[in-house]
Amino acid sequence: MDNANLVVVGAGLGGMAVAIRLALQGKKVLVLEKNETYGGKLAAYKWEGFRWDRGPSLFTLPEQIKELFDLAGKSLKDYFEYVKMDYSCQYFFQDGSRLTIPADQEKRKELFVEIFGQKESAAAEEYIGRTKRIYTGLGNLFINHPKFGLNNIFDRKVLEQYPKLLSRPLLDNLDGFNRSYFNDERLIQIFNRFGTYNGSNPFKMSGIYSMVGSLELEDGVYFPKKGMRSIVDALYQLAIDCGVSFEFNQSEISVEQLDEGYKTESSGHIHLTKNVVSGIDVANFYTQILKDQTLERKIKKQERSSSGIVFYWAVDKIIPDLKLHNIFFGEDYKREFQQIFNGEFFDIQPTIYIHLSCVVNNEDAPESGQNWFVMINMPAGFKVSDQEKDKLRNYIYAVILKHFDVDIKNDILHESIWEAKDIEAITGAHQGALYGASSNHKLAALKRHGNTNKKYPGLYFCGGTVHPGGGIPLVLKSAKIVSTLIRKNDN
Ligand SMILES: Cc1cc2nc3c(=O)[nH]c(=O)nc-3n(C[C@H](O)[C@H](O)[C@H](O)COP(=O)(O)OP(=O)(O)OC[C@H]3O[C@@H](n4cnc5c(N)ncnc54)[C@H](O)[C@@H]3O)c2cc1C
Repeated sequence: MDNANLVVVGAGLGGMAVAIRLALQGKKVLVLEKNETYGGKLAAYKWEGFRWDRGPSLFTLPEQIKELFDLAGKSLKDYFEYVKMDYSCQYFFQDGSRLTIPADQEKRKELFVEIFGQKESAAAEEYIGRTKRIYTGLGNLFINHPKFGLNNIFDRKVLEQYPKLLSRPLLDNLDGFNRSYFNDERLIQIFNRFGTYNGSNPFKMSGIYSMVGSLELEDGVYFPKKGMRSIVDALYQLAIDCGVSFEFNQSEISVEQLDEGYKTESSGHIHLTKNVVSGIDVANFYTQILKDQTLERKIKKQERSSSGIVFYWAVDKIIPDLKLHNIFFGEDYKREFQQIFNGEFFDIQPTIYIHLSCVVNNEDAPESGQNWFVMINMPAGFKVSDQEKDKLRNYIYAVILKHFDVDIKNDILHESIWEAKDIEAITGAHQGALYGASSNHKLAALKRHGNTNKKYPGLYFCGGTVHPGGGIPLVLKSAKIVSTLIRKNDN
């Protein structure tokens, strides 16, 4: 493309969302992507009648996708369709009990009373109410705007949030905060688990992240009718319709700061632009694209969020009780996270997550089978040996046998695996971390890389490794923040 006046590096969710927003501001946007296709972590995989989404499986806050189509004056349903689930997740506990949380709030309350008793259920409602208020106040202030730093701490809007900031949720860790509400270990475990939504340790991360759980329980869980990949299929089409250009297979991109603007070089083409947006892992942007070793070292010093190992299994059997999202809690949640962040393989039975998109889209598996996505959180950068993989497989079979009395060992027709090294090689995530830096430090949100860097005016950062964080909803927020900053700086 000639005369692009803005370059975006990376055609993941963040890169495409920001490209759409900037094209709608009238810019000629060029997206440069190292892979042969768009979507990054929202990749998909097919094998003989089975289809899997490789990366994200949990879809919340769909209005953020809709916002992009509304902005472009397009009808979302011409590009993308999703359904609201009537439950969020099915939980299996070590004692053999299980619980599926209904989306309907009255039904949820009734179920909690039945299972946990009146007192714990009332505590749950109080907890959800309080953490929702934190989200509306502090969360919105923080998530919808560029990262605030020391220069903003006396802003009126920030000052108003101090009572919330200096209260128990922030000062305690997520587990401690949850324990201040609940006695039942199962409820504590459910609410601790939301810490994994940004790949962090609930026993260390701030209790402020309790708002993640409330959002899911109150707002609900959704799923795209054609699977998660259809989110990026829709955004790619929208980007094309908005006039964005893409160049794929651009594995050697370099960006150089000029006296005014930037020179981007890729496949022998040079693009001179005032602005460049990174939609890739910020650590790798500094390493591979900008070659700024000082910043690279600074970013790489930060602890990474967890990675994972995902087994994609074509299972020649139907277990009707498996739902869209299923969690099988391990034997010692605290030790599990200690080991993940010590970079060790487990000496205990870890938590297993099983996702079946065929529950929503029956085209994802043949009639006689199911497309299992089986994930166990792992340390970033961890290389799982063949022996350890066997250990994990046998453990998963045993858990399935325990809960369903079904042996699936001989029913796996095909297996593919994604682990840290694959996630790093395919998506460029430093050490295969799912969400960039971890949030294990109480002030992690303030330490996360922002959407700009003073040293590089005109260079912007979006995506899951920068402010406000990883995961689909926050990545889309980062794209919105960046496009707003660029518009403001243009005026
Ligand atoms: C297994 C797994 C499970 C997850 N589960 C969930 C979930 O359930 N819900 C949720 O919300 N989130 C989940 N996430 C996290 C979510 O996928 C990410 O936060 C989000 O997709 C990040 O989007 P992004 O655009 O920032 O980055 P990416 O999707 O990584 O996109 C970056 C793009 O940049 C390209 N790129 C990288 N390096 C270069 C380079 N040097 N030059 C050019 N291009 C480059 C990549 O190829 C890629 O296309 C999960 C992630 C994984 C891997």
